[in-house]
Amino acid sequence: MRIFALLIAFFWTFLAFAESTSSPAARTWITDVTIVSPENLDHIGEGNVLIENGRIVSVDRKRNDKKPAGATVISGKGLFLIPGLIDSHVHLAAVPGIDFDQPEMKSEMVRDYFKQLPRSYLYFGYTTLIDFAVFNRQVLNDFRQAPEHPDLYDCGESLPFANGYPMSFAPPAARFQFFPNFIYDPKQVSSIPPKYKPEDHTPAADVARVKREGGICVKTYFERGFGSDRNLPVMPPEVLTEIRKSATQAGLVLMIHANSFEAQKFGVEGNVDVLAHGMWNWGALDKETELTPEIKAVLDQVVEKKIGYQATIEVLEGLRAYFDPDFLQAKAIHKVVPEKLLEWFNTPHGKWFKKELQPDDTPDVAVRQSLDRGPLRRVQQVVAYLASKDADFLFGTDTPSAPTYGNLPGLNGYMEMQQLQHAGLSLKQIFQAATINNARKFKLESQVGTIEPGKIANLVLLKKSPLESVDAYDSIVTVWVHGRAMSREALAADASK
Ligand SMILES: [Zn+2]
Repeated sequence: MRIFALLIAFFWTFLAFAESTSSPAARTWITDVTIVSPENLDHIGEGNVLIENGRIVSVDRKRNDKKPAGATVISGKGLFLIPGLIDSHVHLAAVPGIDFDQPEMKSEMVRDYFKQLPRSYLYFGYTTLIDFAVFNRQVLNDFRQAPEHPDLYDCGESLPFANGYPMSFAPPAARFQFFPNFIYDPKQVSSIPPKYKPEDHTPAADVARVKREGGICVKTYFERGFGSDRNLPVMPPEVLTEIRKSATQAGLVLMIHANSFEAQKFGVEGNVDVLAHGMWNWGALDKETELTPEIKAVLDQVVEKKIGYQATIEVLEGLRAYFDPDFLQAKAIHKVVPEKLLEWFNTPHGKWFKKELQPDDTPDVAVRQSLDRGPLRRVQQVVAYLASKDADFLFGTDTPSAPTYGNLPGLNGYMEMQQLQHAGLSLKQIFQAATINNARKFKLESQVGTIEPGKIANLVLLKKSPLESVDAYDSIVTVWVHGRAMSREALAADASK
């Protein structure tokens, strides 16, 4: 066994050596570029950035240095350099517009989608992703093996409460297999298969499994359900306290799926690190036209405790897309989704999810309006309030949040940024949320999140400043991952190969 391990170690050393000597762009010097880095927004100016073997080695804002020997020079004159963007809430194994049990999942168009997936995130500047709930590790492994791909971290398998959301969506016979990290509930002994032992499904045992598999975070849920899945079991506060304790001991970041007033109050009282959604369900307060004192009190706690807030407004837009005749017409879709899949979205069968969202013959306009006047309005009010208090926003999209074609990789991030701006975040807040805030909250700040010496050279070159307009994020010229440059157009789904 030991010899085998040694051989493997040797093999990797050899590979690393081969990479560092044979790569022609081992040294890259980006010159005369406007450096926009979130820790230094008061001193934005032109400078030079040197990349060596995948890391940033120097950032010179005085511009008095000579060309480093052997460096490939990229002129950044008139352009803007930002750290690679971080989307801290994605679900890579889920395919937009297709449910897990549909036969299309095994089709060639889906294989092509997965091949394009890492490139679509890069196309919109996302160089670091966090998968929030692993249920198909193979997809993540394949993603990490792709010729070009963002850095990928994950929260391991999530911790749903027994028979609660989201394991409730799977048939009772299969759900414990799909969610092996569920939390045992002694009150439900009769509806948990006897082969699952309580001691293997305590918060401590579950968190230990996440840690063992290399997760950097723990995801749990507080959700009573919606649609036909209502009144689901939810965990009592003592269980969240136990998860909190175990996550802290393991050094893992704790996030909770919570999109209602009740759920966010529960999460805040349980001292979670991150609320994984905006608050768009106000329960008994849904009809209130303004934030009530009790809602503000919870949001004030979010600010005071510095709890990370992922607004994920695109979750709602993802539903709205089926009632918006313009959505599939957007030109950008051709950049992130292979043509075959897009053609399928446009067939009647490809719009199957629309029927689930519109059971009777409600006109499209009415569905759109009920979203606009209901949950979208509420989440915008919540986000505006938190923005005015400068809450710790974390950029996360929840792509795809449902089997919806309204949440497409990369593009969904760009659309979420537009939503955040519309809801009241400043361009500075959006920029920080997608870079330094995510890096700090997920303990990645020694590696990514700013343009500073020592960090991984994950960088994005833009034609416009992200502090002047949100469409700067759609003006990308070049993306670097670990120092390797990729032109944006070459990453597009419709790029000629
Ligand atoms: Zn999610």
